Amino acid sequence: MSQHSDTTVLGFLLGHLAPAFDFSNVSIIALTSAWWEKEPHPMTEIGVAELPLPVLPFEGYGDMLFSHIDSLLLRLNSTHARIKPNAHLVNHFPGAGNVEKFNFGHTVFTDVGEARQGLFDIIVRPYEDGTLRPVVLLGHAVHNHMDRLKTALGIDLLSLGCIVRVLDTQEMAKDRHIVAPVAGAKENMPISLKHLVQHYKVMPNNLRTAGNDVVHIVLAAIITTLETELYVNDDDGDKDTYKERLNALLNRMMQMGKMKPPQNWGSPVFCTRCDRTNHFRDECRANYIVCAICSASPSAKNRAGARTHQTNKCLFAPIPVPNTTGAVAATMTGKTGSTAVGPRPGRATMK
Ligand SMILES: [Zn+2]
Ligand SMILES: [Zn+2]
Repeated sequence: MSQHSDTTVLGFLLGHLAPAFDFSNVSIIALTSAWWEKEPHPMTEIGVAELPLPVLPFEGYGDMLFSHIDSLLLRLNSTHARIKPNAHLVNHFPGAGNVEKFNFGHTVFTDVGEARQGLFDIIVRPYEDGTLRPVVLLGHAVHNHMDRLKTALGIDLLSLGCIVRVLDTQEMAKDRHIVAPVAGAKENMPISLKHLVQHYKVMPNNLRTAGNDVVHIVLAAIITTLETELYVNDDDGDKDTYKERLNALLNRMMQMGKMKPPQNWGSPVFCTRCDRTNHFRDECRANYIVCAICSASPSAKNRAGARTHQTNKCLFAPIPVPNTTGAVAATMTGKTGSTAVGPRPGRATMK
């Protein structure tokens, strides 16, 4: 199916286009991640969402089609996992999400090994005969996230043997000639997730945190794929037709997500300050927590943050000098930039 565009493939999967293949048992799993804004950009969260099978064929246009989308998205299972060793690292760049507000369910905290295993268990599902259930992986700038997951968690998704296609909402936006609503934006420029959902008049709440992002990725992918059939009565092309219903749908997804039990991996409760699993950071009374490195830092900012974490989790620890072979200087270049995101030399990393 490599010859088909991303929107065409998702159209097949949703049963809305005459399928050229048997997609009846293909799982659609969306994935994203987030990392700390500062070097070495350690991964702080992952978001995974799965559309439950079977995805019954969508029929109809306009309102009838919207009802199908509505019922499908209400069944979406989404997960937000924060990576314990990095969970105290909070982003403050303009537009950064609040990592403590996962709107569509309950956050879990995992160590690196649990995150890798959890991801593996969601994606790799063998049948009784030993063959693997085929998966179509969906994301936004997804190859960048796959690269980062490989570095941070040691999981090489494409080598798992079950991913038959990777779909990207940035590519879907290009298929539909969507231009970001910002000055200077042009067709074919990579669009942000926020701008993509805003194109459909969705008012996102707390994006830039992986759990919320992954839900919006699924929503954006489905609407982008089905936009021609959905917006049949949108004569002026302003995409106002489903503005209220889409935002109401997101609100119901939040309510339903909160009623579901937490995922059975990691800890539902974790203090990012003292590492205990019986309270959250806001309730922490561990007076002894102070980072020796930050408390002695010449930077007033670092000194101010010294009580937020223990010394063993400090990312301002001196970096060991690389050996002559350069073996510890492993870095990786993201697709959209030249930022080094490799593991910090000397830090515990995955095998
Ligand atoms: Zn604590
Ligand atoms: Zn520190």
